[in-house]
Amino acid sequence: MTVIIPEHSGFCPGVSNAEKNIFRLKKREPGVRLFVYGYLINNRKYIAFLEEQGVRTVESMEDIPEGAVVIVRTHGLDRNEEAALRGRFRVVDLTCPKVKKVQNEIDAHARQGYAVVIVGKEDHPETRGHKSCAGECSVIGRVEECAPVVDRLQAANPGGGLPRKVFLCAQTTASRDLFEAIVSAFQAAGPGIFDLSVYDSICPVTDRKERESLRLRKDADVTFVVGDKISANASKLYRLLSAEPGTPVYFVEDLAELKSLGLDLPPGGKALLIASASTPAFIEQDIALYLESL
Ligand code: SF4
Repeated sequence: MTVIIPEHSGFCPGVSNAEKNIFRLKKREPGVRLFVYGYLINNRKYIAFLEEQGVRTVESMEDIPEGAVVIVRTHGLDRNEEAALRGRFRVVDLTCPKVKKVQNEIDAHARQGYAVVIVGKEDHPETRGHKSCAGECSVIGRVEECAPVVDRLQAANPGGGLPRKVFLCAQTTASRDLFEAIVSAFQAAGPGIFDLSVYDSICPVTDRKERESLRLRKDADVTFVVGDKISANASKLYRLLSAEPGTPVYFVEDLAELKSLGLDLPPGGKALLIASASTPAFIEQDIALYLESL
């Protein structure tokens, strides 16, 4: 088969940069004991690969030994947890600069009395980090959750009177459609109700990759989205592509899962292969080589 891989397939720049820095640090300080605080990316095979390389992943501070170096991953961290880590360990902050920028904007707006509204997943590590930079904060994950937040912010203004200052931003991997729908809902309340500051913090790399994948799918006989099922960005990519009518789309974690589907793939056909932002190149390459051999 001919395999088509979009330009932005695989690790996004934030994750590539974190990976490079970890291995650079290991090389520079061979004896260093490295611990990533939380999953560096949502891919269990990659976490196992890091373990093999001597880079451990921990979920609790209590599992980190004295003298270790702690990595703050690309999603960023709750600032209180980060302060606690810095009090006990040497910390290397590998938060993606785009995520850091959102945190700084939230912090600056919260200091000016803005209520913060984040479009994203409440329990996502990036959102938890964003929330820790805000004072009053609401997270909206679905359109239906917007109206109660609008009503609540309209009704309760600690400073008294209207308009209410509201800062709207998004988790960097949130859906653009959802973000735009939420911004419109706040705008629809009218200028006398909210003094809105809108920061479009959705990652342009994710956006470009989604658009490019949709375009390329039109030309493919079959599409494979590659990623761990626990990855929000991989699931979102799959939902987006499979929602459009056309040739089949499959969501697979690795080559073994693809083979287990027992698909009747057309030899000489075209396969579109898209690795999510948290899928390592070694998994993508395995699948590409297999498809090319058909
Ligand atoms: S998806 Fe974008 S914002 Fe998020 S870590 Fe990757 S490059 Fe950074």
